[in-house]
Amino acid sequence: MKTEDTERPLRTPVVLKKLILVVSVHLIAIRALFLLHKLHVGTLLFGALCYQLAGLGITAGAHRLWSHRSYKAKLPLRIFLALMSCAAWQIPILQWARDHRTHHKFTDTDADPHNATRGLFFSHFGSIICQKHDDVVTKGKTISVDDLLADPVVRIQKRFFIPGALFMCIILPTWIPYYCWNESLIYSYYATVLRYCLTMNAAFAVNSFAHWAGSKPYDRTITPADNEVVALITMGEGFHNYHHAFPQDYSTSELGIKWNPTKVFIDVMAYLGQVYDRKSTPKHHIEARKNRNAKSAHLHLQ
Ligand SMILES: [Zn+2]
Ligand SMILES: [Zn+2]
Repeated sequence: MKTEDTERPLRTPVVLKKLILVVSVHLIAIRALFLLHKLHVGTLLFGALCYQLAGLGITAGAHRLWSHRSYKAKLPLRIFLALMSCAAWQIPILQWARDHRTHHKFTDTDADPHNATRGLFFSHFGSIICQKHDDVVTKGKTISVDDLLADPVVRIQKRFFIPGALFMCIILPTWIPYYCWNESLIYSYYATVLRYCLTMNAAFAVNSFAHWAGSKPYDRTITPADNEVVALITMGEGFHNYHHAFPQDYSTSELGIKWNPTKVFIDVMAYLGQVYDRKSTPKHHIEARKNRNAKSAHLHLQ
């Protein structure tokens, strides 16, 4: 009888189109690095702002709102987050959330879209440029996305994703510096692609580096780890051991002094009346989980 390991193909075929896209973005971004000193200061500041806004489309939008339903958002905020998700230009929210729910349910197995047990490179780039493992496809189909399909913002974003992403991620942020402070159009384009490349790598870093290095105070048996560097570049998404232990928590980390701009954004939106029903984890649940984890680590050492 075949084991699961012998059934798994040794190599996962690369999708040439995706490989060319990812390599091209990185080559343009590297060229952009050599032009940084020539950019208008406004272009640099605008790039930094776009990085944060596009990041929110993933962190506050596709991840904490749509994948985990860790809070509820009113229509204007959902539209804003869907547009920002286009600015991050990964995949439509519907697909992102299905893949992410699959990732949580089947963490560290072949059904995990960015299975970290296949190595750092696979979890960072490989899962994006390779064909999905059969288990990801078959088990992904068992994940319910009915709640997402019921949201017209998600449906419309999926329908117009390519033109929406092209406009929000490339055309608009290239045009604004050119129109507003006379930046060279080609320099503005390079700066935009550099920003896109950084957003892309920050998002991938959660799947790779936050599954590779860091502390595991809540569950030492899984690859996800609390990684402060990843938290820093992803607006607070790096507390990944906590997040896998308590995925419904809108803060994705223990409360206290933590670098978590996404949580601050959600709290500000709640203050403005755009967010409600934020889910948190009771302190005693967190402590109980930490104690269990510490005890199991102690037993393991004996
Ligand atoms: Zn994860
Ligand atoms: Zn998650």
